[in-house]
Amino acid sequence: MGERKETETQREIAKEKRALSQQSIPLGYQQVYSCPACGSGQISAMAMMDVFACDFCRHMFTANLQTQSVQLADSVQPMAWHWTGHRWRAAHQSETTAGLVWGFALILTAAPVGLISISNYVFPPSGGLQFVLSWVALTGVSHSIMSVWLLAEYHRWPWYVAGRIRLQRLREQLSEQWAA
Ligand SMILES: [Zn+2]
Repeated sequence: MGERKETETQREIAKEKRALSQQSIPLGYQQVYSCPACGSGQISAMAMMDVFACDFCRHMFTANLQTQSVQLADSVQPMAWHWTGHRWRAAHQSETTAGLVWGFALILTAAPVGLISISNYVFPPSGGLQFVLSWVALTGVSHSIMSVWLLAEYHRWPWYVAGRIRLQRLREQLSEQWAA
């Protein structure tokens, strides 16, 4: 408990230091940084290791101090971030893959909406325009959600990563309460 308190104080000091000085801080093992993966936690170097760990999402990062960047160490997805001195910038993922994923997401949303619109235009249903429009809107919304989910899974946007962890912890808490 005492150890935890100490690291919390260290974090507070680090935060204040950063707030006070506007000059950039280089990436180093003595500092604490915001987590590039989840955006909610803070990463600090693990004792005796050249590895950073997040206190929220528990991801681990290998650091390259020469290039001032970190890379996700415990994921099959190669994710890397460059430290600008103030904040993280996502290192470029493969642009072809990103293009393919975005293209697929776009088709996933646009194609069903287009198909329903065309088929309703060619064969007008008895429900009238209101029915057609609500059907198109419903299809559009549901497929947009799928597309956003697909893109979030690919890009690992911090809000998505943090949200998923919060949801998982909530579920664990609830199941613990049920078990008790
Ligand atoms: Zn994190």
